[in-house]
Amino acid sequence: MIPVMNVSRQYALIEDTLDKAALDVLHSGQYILGNKVLEFEHSFARYCGVKYAIGVGNGTDALAIALRACGVEEGDEVITSAMSFFATAESITAVGGKPVFVDCTSDTYLLDASLIEDVITEKTKAIIPIHLYGQCADMDAINKIAHRHNLKVIEDAAQAAGSSYKGCKAGSLADVACFSFFPTKNLGAAGDGGMILTNDETIYKQCMALRVHGSGENGAFMYYMRKGDAPVELDFGDNLPKYYNYVIGYNSRLDALQAALLTAKLPYLDEWNKRRNEIAKRYDDAFCNLSGIKIPFTRVENNHCYYVYVLLVDDRNDFRKYLEQKGIATGVYFPVALHLQTVFENLGYKVGDMPNAEYLAEHGVAIPMFPELMDAEIEAVIEAIKNYHAEVSCHGK
Ligand SMILES: *Cc1c(COP(=O)(O)O)cnc(C)c1O
Repeated sequence: MIPVMNVSRQYALIEDTLDKAALDVLHSGQYILGNKVLEFEHSFARYCGVKYAIGVGNGTDALAIALRACGVEEGDEVITSAMSFFATAESITAVGGKPVFVDCTSDTYLLDASLIEDVITEKTKAIIPIHLYGQCADMDAINKIAHRHNLKVIEDAAQAAGSSYKGCKAGSLADVACFSFFPTKNLGAAGDGGMILTNDETIYKQCMALRVHGSGENGAFMYYMRKGDAPVELDFGDNLPKYYNYVIGYNSRLDALQAALLTAKLPYLDEWNKRRNEIAKRYDDAFCNLSGIKIPFTRVENNHCYYVYVLLVDDRNDFRKYLEQKGIATGVYFPVALHLQTVFENLGYKVGDMPNAEYLAEHGVAIPMFPELMDAEIEAVIEAIKNYHAEVSCHGK
């Protein structure tokens, strides 16, 4: 079976480097925060062109912590796209906010900026655009609207490590950005991991506080800032600042072990993304003229990083079954639009509210895409899809 994604091949390619990085951490005895985490935070911030980085436990926590640091509280509304991984909307609810969905566009499947202003209320605090599949959202339009209404913008860049928009890296395009290092992501750890990036010192300090139970100097900063008080002189005596708590936070740190592995992998990211683009180009060329199959659309200002390569097909079930018989795996990202998830029933959305997101949920199909995909496998995928198309056309469609 040719898989949609595969993380073992990448490990095999740089096994020695990764083993050494992992062993260094094991021998060091420094497993929580410390130099390895600082080093990766610095390298990733530099790579993305951003001042501050905060390594956290996973991408979902990154979003929740970023929302809290942006001041989202109980009852606040946060606007996001109806098409994303569940965690985008879950994080809004997790901090007490209410997700307000807008549809995505029919060509890129990214948040449709032209729909945002219709749903802004006095409770709206922030917007979360998602760089879906590795293509950056319409950031200039979104930032302009946010500025006009005094809203914060949080990039969900979980699928976009190394992607860029108008020459600037995903992660540097808004007030704050969130990444996931889930193993299959473009930059993947050997377990869970996440990162928050920002140029805003106030957001940075609050994220630093929130990832360690709202404790220490950063916790105090957040507490007194929110109260509107002048900062007080802190006196922890002979005790550790981490045992002084000021806000309710999280236990969510990027593991030193994951940080070391990610530092070792980061130098390869551009090369890997380049290979993803080569594969995408071959797929595009092969499928662009097949009726009933639509290739992904990339806006000119974007440098895509193809976390996944998604085709729109008329008969998805038949298409997937056919490929499976030919030994080719496919995936669906994602089968349920967020506004139709059962858990959000109480928000009152119904089928038909977000036609583009719903169309993608029914017709989108991801085919194998990862840098270590071999040429023979790419050819096999192309041939199978062309044969499928020929067979379907022959059956008098
Ligand atoms: C993967 C992903 C997340 C969540 O990241 P985790 O590290 O799995 O918590 C959030 N948003 C999007 C768009 C994702 O793809």
